[in-house]
Amino acid sequence: YNKQFQPYIVNYKSGHTFLDFAGCSIYSSRQITEYTESLKRNVYGNPHSGNPSSDLMAAEVEKVRNTVLAFFNTTSSEYSIIFTSGATAGLKLVAQSFDWTPGKSMYAYLEDNHTSVVGIREAAIDKGAHSVCLRFPKHFKPILLRPSNQMKMGGDNQAEPSHLFAYPAQSNFAGRKYPLNWIQNVKKGAIGSLLSKTDVKSTWFTLLDAAAFVATSNLDLGEYPADFVTVSFYKIFGFPTGIGALLVRNKAAPKLDKIYFGGGTTQVYLPSKNYSLLKTKLHEKFEEGTIAFLDILALRHGFATISRITGHMENITNHLFNLIHWLYNKLNTLTHKNGEKCIVIYTTTRYSNPTLQGATIAFNVRSMDGRYIGYKEVLSTASKENIHLRGGCFCNAGSCNYLLGIDDDKLNQIQKSGYVCGEADIVNGFPVGAVRVSLGYMSTIDDVISFFQFIKRYYVQ
Ligand SMILES: *Cc1c(COP(=O)(O)O)cnc(C)c1O
Repeated sequence: YNKQFQPYIVNYKSGHTFLDFAGCSIYSSRQITEYTESLKRNVYGNPHSGNPSSDLMAAEVEKVRNTVLAFFNTTSSEYSIIFTSGATAGLKLVAQSFDWTPGKSMYAYLEDNHTSVVGIREAAIDKGAHSVCLRFPKHFKPILLRPSNQMKMGGDNQAEPSHLFAYPAQSNFAGRKYPLNWIQNVKKGAIGSLLSKTDVKSTWFTLLDAAAFVATSNLDLGEYPADFVTVSFYKIFGFPTGIGALLVRNKAAPKLDKIYFGGGTTQVYLPSKNYSLLKTKLHEKFEEGTIAFLDILALRHGFATISRITGHMENITNHLFNLIHWLYNKLNTLTHKNGEKCIVIYTTTRYSNPTLQGATIAFNVRSMDGRYIGYKEVLSTASKENIHLRGGCFCNAGSCNYLLGIDDDKLNQIQKSGYVCGEADIVNGFPVGAVRVSLGYMSTIDDVISFFQFIKRYYVQ
């Protein structure tokens, strides 16, 4: 537990235990003050206008682009940033713009993905591409292995059909982290070798959903050059909401096709004839209309907070791993007086290592007679104690089903019972969702202790 974190803790701490950082992070008081001070000091105009307030704003936006790139250890010569309304909007942009070749392209995604990543499949199929879900755990090994030498390296031959592989750097369900060296392995054909249908000569691109990962870990795009990366900034520092980014590796940019043109995206067009010429810079082409410029300005103060408090993201990773590891061991060994386990934790990592496991625990509570207590009941009891948790499947049905042991038989039973996602927490005695504790840069040992005391007080018989 690092004392240096204490002075920055704001008022939310008084009487509250916030454990839903995977839902959103918490903004710091100083971040908000500095942001509003800068709004009061300056006039910020529409960056497209070309007047003094506009030029000031345009320059600030450029600075923020560089700050974001530097945060991910890269530069504008390697990556472009397209500001979006969030990670989901970035994922949808890739879905709708990717160069799918009908009948040939493949969209492959891990079972453990956010809904917004799985949904790309619909766009791919609509364009005539194939899609495949890589399932736990049988499909994982081939990606981990270095592909054989016969594999052709991902060529840059634009004529070959392109395939896309999407996976999360960190799962939002139970915080499992996936190897970033998959990015290289996939380029070298690791997935092509997995799917017999696929022509191994084709080029694979990687979409890394980093929305959960980057809130508490360092993403080094210099070392792990994913082609497309999606983030939401409120997950890192809490404010502002409604802004995220799609980072595109410049080498992969030609794979995004632009159809619609909107304000700010064209060099020239004719209103009455079918003629238009799009701007050449990637972000100018894809950021349609007026960008959320005041929100982009606010990002600057968010990044400043993160750097002031953490020094480097690795400090946060290690600090939080200590906390989550402590909590995992405590909960995992908690028993009722008859020796039965009180907490069932959903994990494939056993919290052995911060490179495999983020600061999240997904679990359910059981009574002494082995009955599951629904996550809704746990959440409402916690709420009365001002403990902020999240319950359900967290927009990740793949991980939820796998970790909770909901196989196809059980899924059938659940569907027959008329279940609608989020409505029931227990169906025929088994849980269909979990409780999630997730930590962030502001979390302290007091948070995890107070949560552990709460579980002991209410649920240990
Ligand atoms: C939160 C999250 C998303 C979606 O982010 P939005 O801000 O809701 O668009 C996608 N993937 C992961 C892993 C997430 O944690």
